[in-house]
Amino acid sequence: MDKYDYIVVGGGIIGIATARQLQLQFSGVKVAVLEKESMLASHQTSRNSGIIHAGVYYAPGSMKAQFCREGNHDTKEFCREYGIPFKETGKLLVATDERDVQRMGELLERCKQNEITTEVLDQQQLQELEPNVVGVAATWVPSSGIVDYGVVTTKLAEQFVTAGGEIFTNCEVLAVKETAEIEVRTSLGTFVGGFLVGCAGLYSDRLIRMLQPEAPFKILPFRGDYFQLPVTKRQIVKHPIYPIPDPELPFLGIHLTPMIDGSLTVGPNATLAFAREGYKFWTMNFKDLLEMFSYSGLYRLIKKYPQATWNELKNSFHKPGYLQLVNRYCPQITLDDLRPYPAGVRAQAVKPDGTTLDDFLFVESGKTLIVGNAPSPAATSALPISRYICDKVEQLQK
Ligand SMILES: Cc1cc2nc3c(=O)[nH]c(=O)nc-3n(C[C@H](O)[C@H](O)[C@H](O)COP(=O)(O)OP(=O)(O)OC[C@H]3O[C@@H](n4cnc5c(N)ncnc54)[C@H](O)[C@@H]3O)c2cc1C
Repeated sequence: MDKYDYIVVGGGIIGIATARQLQLQFSGVKVAVLEKESMLASHQTSRNSGIIHAGVYYAPGSMKAQFCREGNHDTKEFCREYGIPFKETGKLLVATDERDVQRMGELLERCKQNEITTEVLDQQQLQELEPNVVGVAATWVPSSGIVDYGVVTTKLAEQFVTAGGEIFTNCEVLAVKETAEIEVRTSLGTFVGGFLVGCAGLYSDRLIRMLQPEAPFKILPFRGDYFQLPVTKRQIVKHPIYPIPDPELPFLGIHLTPMIDGSLTVGPNATLAFAREGYKFWTMNFKDLLEMFSYSGLYRLIKKYPQATWNELKNSFHKPGYLQLVNRYCPQITLDDLRPYPAGVRAQAVKPDGTTLDDFLFVESGKTLIVGNAPSPAATSALPISRYICDKVEQLQK
């Protein structure tokens, strides 16, 4: 059995960016990526809105605020350098009533603290920029963009393999033992390494539990249903259009997103899924269900947001409810316009007291570092996250 200096679990954007960064930062090292699917980027990395976020929403001083700002720049630079299609579309956050205007003021303050350039538009300016969008005011964020993160991951993987890295697909990690070395039991046999980095997305808590009795949180899967508009309505908006988010809720609200392939999507909502990779309403996994429904954090989370939980659940099978949310700022979209589009499932870390973990979180031991919580904007932030991980690994190995 070959020995590796570093073993990376997970072939999403964070795992692949980290594997590549390990090669760049520690020259001559032998690195393996273990991915349970037959293809890289099969889960969150390819099932998202494809926004290169600017960093509008994140608490000043948080890792999200810092890495998103850096990642916005780095992602665009990476795309420019390697000819990956992306667009600097900018984005609009639309206020539809007085409550939104007040919340928009708070967001603008946050943008100032996060050093993000914004412009406030009045009703007429909004109309001029987006004639089919209604609102009383809007915030224009010029640095937002769009990209396909699956394509970014493929390019990073190509560079990793060219530099001598090895990727094992159909290779599910089943157990990890930390002794003088790291021993990883997988569906393809046992791998031995000097250090393990875990980037397992929806399974981050299970990976942590392979190393220690408990994780300080559990991952709850929140499905985001999307629809795509018919070709005739693709020009209805020119920019990504977001509502003003409710600061009490962890998700951003249903938005209209021009995708890099030319399509226009609506979504995502955020409803509890009955399987970690439950991309359809009816997809269930017994182990996931048992784990979820025996977790106190789930009930406390629902108790905190009873109305939002119900609305999200209802709208996931009641299209008119879903439509109403987007009609608040784009009334021309009809029920008939909502055509099927693949859903995504977010890995949301929730503490036993029902609190959702907002910031990125990393859990370390002597020879392991696991990415515990990497929700949006982790795709935008993948390159700075990978540098952060490698710096941490260097410290831990001293
Ligand atoms: C609906 C939705 C919309 C989003 N929109 C945006 C956006 O617009 N912009 C943005 O920046 N971010 C967005 N995000 C967030 C972003 O997509 C994720 O934060 C990011 O992709 C996380 O990457 P990852 O590599 O950690 O996880 P993943 O892409 O989920 O990769 C984890 C990988 O680990 C593998 N794995 C798990 N367990 C094992 C095991 N035991 N053995 C081997 N392999 C294993 C999985 O198969 C998977 O390939 C969105 C996410 C969702 C779901």
